[in-house]
Formats: sequence, structure tokens, C-alpha cells
Amino acid sequence: MKGRFPLSTCALAITALFSIFTLSEETKTYSASQQAKNIAKETIIVDGHIDVPYRVKEKWVDVTKATEGGDFDYPRAVEGGLNAPFMSIYVPASLDNSPESTQLAHELIDSVEAIVARAPDKFAIAKSPSQVKTQFEKGLISLPMGMENGSPIQGDLANLNDFYERGIRYITLAHSQANHISDSSYDLRRKWKGLSPFGKTLVTEMNNIGIMLDISHVSDDAFYQVIEITKTPVIASHSSLRRFTPGFERNMDDDMIKALGKNGGVIMINFGSSFVTKAAGQWRTGLTNARKALIEKEGEDSPKLATFDEDYRKKVPYPYSTLDEVLDHIDHVVKLVGVDHVGIGSDYDGVGDSLPIGLKDVASFPNLVQGLLDRGYERQDIEKILSGNLLRVWQQVEDYAAAH
Ligand SMILES: [Zn+2]
Repeated sequence: MKGRFPLSTCALAITALFSIFTLSEETKTYSASQQAKNIAKETIIVDGHIDVPYRVKEKWVDVTKATEGGDFDYPRAVEGGLNAPFMSIYVPASLDNSPESTQLAHELIDSVEAIVARAPDKFAIAKSPSQVKTQFEKGLISLPMGMENGSPIQGDLANLNDFYERGIRYITLAHSQANHISDSSYDLRRKWKGLSPFGKTLVTEMNNIGIMLDISHVSDDAFYQVIEITKTPVIASHSSLRRFTPGFERNMDDDMIKALGKNGGVIMINFGSSFVTKAAGQWRTGLTNARKALIEKEGEDSPKLATFDEDYRKKVPYPYSTLDEVLDHIDHVVKLVGVDHVGIGSDYDGVGDSLPIGLKDVASFPNLVQGLLDRGYERQDIEKILSGNLLRVWQQVEDYAAAH
């Protein structure tokens, strides 16, 4: 969940007409061969992070049927061959240190259960890698759950236990600000210089109970402290590579990837363009600065603020990244630490209108497979990227907890 950049199709058409750059990029198409479509269909595809619960909370839609807009619904998931999208139980940092954060997390879990209850012939909750596999064989889409922001734990291990029982299988320790567990990459105050004392205890407790540690969003110091303490591999549920986005601490640098590889963990690549290319990140900074300037000039209640993002996009076309640029991230992880440590964490329904050309929604996974085939990946390596690596880590985490 990163905030949204609404843009009507009409505005997009106007933008395209006035910008040769946008026109050529927009008309570049990707298509998948029958072979790629077959691989997407026959292989379990796990996505580390999809923001369906918060999308439904903000504006309810029935994702068991085709939906207008958004990046996920049942028909498109079937078309893309997606089998196990982790539903993000996202709690905004604004609710940190309040009972409301715990309440909201429970309500979002309820909303995932409601999706399954409405269409038990299409969806099922998954609480283990073996459930993902058996449900795949039955033709059901699994909805495992990960909690984005550890604030709902509220420093109480009884809450951790409750969330485990309800199906939470990873926790992103912090979101956009430091919470009672960890510092955040977006929050420069560095309150804890990494993890808080409770955060250090929580790492061990998550190992013992069998919840994966998600280091997306945390500061570099917090990442290294998690790696130091954990007895099991960790994941980055939706992060990309800092090498391609210099200075963007939300992404991982090469040394961190190497440490993650040694730990046996997996980085699941975020598709949002500002995670993929420097140009998209700079566009976002430009937007933020322009909005600040407007507020300074005209005040918080300027009528222009309502359509500000849309108007800005008309003036400065958004530099969408491409499927090829996403593949560069995957290639670089493979080059650094091998093919066992990379997966997919699209952030669909969480990054607004910023998705790459060729990867616009969950129906696009065959394009990704085609891209991997074109770059010479063997089928067994493609299967590792699509799910094998994440399922391996999840199994290791489950096994460790069973033995402790
Ligand atoms: Zn996120």
C-alpha cells in the first residue's frame, strides 16, 4: 500500500497524444507464447504481496467476480495462472500504538474470510505450504495472509498467537514509520537504531511459533539485526533492488542481498515502477515537491489539491517502467546469489497506476514467464522464482517451529 495516483483512461489517452515518449512506450506490447501460458497454468504461482483487503475496505467490490479497475479479481487471477497471492493485512502507521491497529487487522482478516465464504468453489485460506499444494491440485486459489506492519501485536505475545491461529504467516515488522518493533526505511528518525528490545524478542518468538519474518520496509540496521537473531530464513515480501534506484532505502542493496542469500531467504520483487527505476522515483519526488509548493502558496484548503495528482500527470507524464526492467532486477539477484533467492511480490492493488508496461495486473504472469524464457531461464528455475523458493522458506519456518 503506497498511496494512489488515480488517472482516468481518458486522461491517459490525452497524455499519450501529447507525448511521443509516452506514445511509444504505451504502444509497446508484450505477449506470451502458448508455452509460457502453459507454464503459468501448470506451475504454482505465489505472489508475496497483494493489497486486496485494503482495496476492499476502501471501496468494496466483489473480487470473486470480474471487477472494474484494480489489479486483482478471480477471472484475471485464473487467466494469469496465479494460485497463492498473499493477502496483505495492511495497517497504516497512523494507527501505531493504538488498540485500533489490532482491531483493523482482525477486520481485514475477516474480509479475506468473507471472500472465501462467498466463493468456496474458487478460493480457500492457506495456512501451510502443503495446503497451497493440495488446493492447487483441487483448482482452488489459495489466499495465505501476511500482516504488513507489526503494530497490531501491541507488545503482547497473546496477540501474536491469535494472529497465527487466524492464519497470519508472515509479519512485515514495520511500515512507513518506526513502531514498537522496528525502525522503518522511510522514517529517518531511527528511534531504535534497528530493532527495539521487544522487536528482538519478537524475532525469536516468530521463529518459535512459525511466522515468517518479512524485512520489507525496515531500515538497513533492523534488517541486519533480524538476520543476526533469526534461526530461519527470512523474506522480503515486496522489495526490489537499490542498485537500480540509488538512495531508495526501501529497496535492498547488493550487500543485503548477499546476506539474505547466506540466510537462505528470498527477495520477492516489487513491480511498482518507483521500485524498479530511478526515473519513476524521481517523478514521484517531483509530484511531492510540487504539491508542497502549492500548499505553501495557496494553503491546505486549495481547491486544486483535489485533482492535483491527475493534473500533474497531464503536465508530466508518468515514466512507467517495463517488464524488461523488472526482469533486470530478477537477473541481478540471480547473478549475486543464485536462482534460489528470488520470487515475486508484485504489490498489485497497492501501488496505484504505477505498474510496468507488460505487468499491469494479475493476468500478466504469462508475460513474466515469457520474459524469463526469452532470457534463457530453464523451466525448473522459473518454477523456483514463481513459487518454489518461497514455499521452501515457508516449509523451513514451519519445520523449525514444529521442532521448538
Ligand atoms: Zn508495502
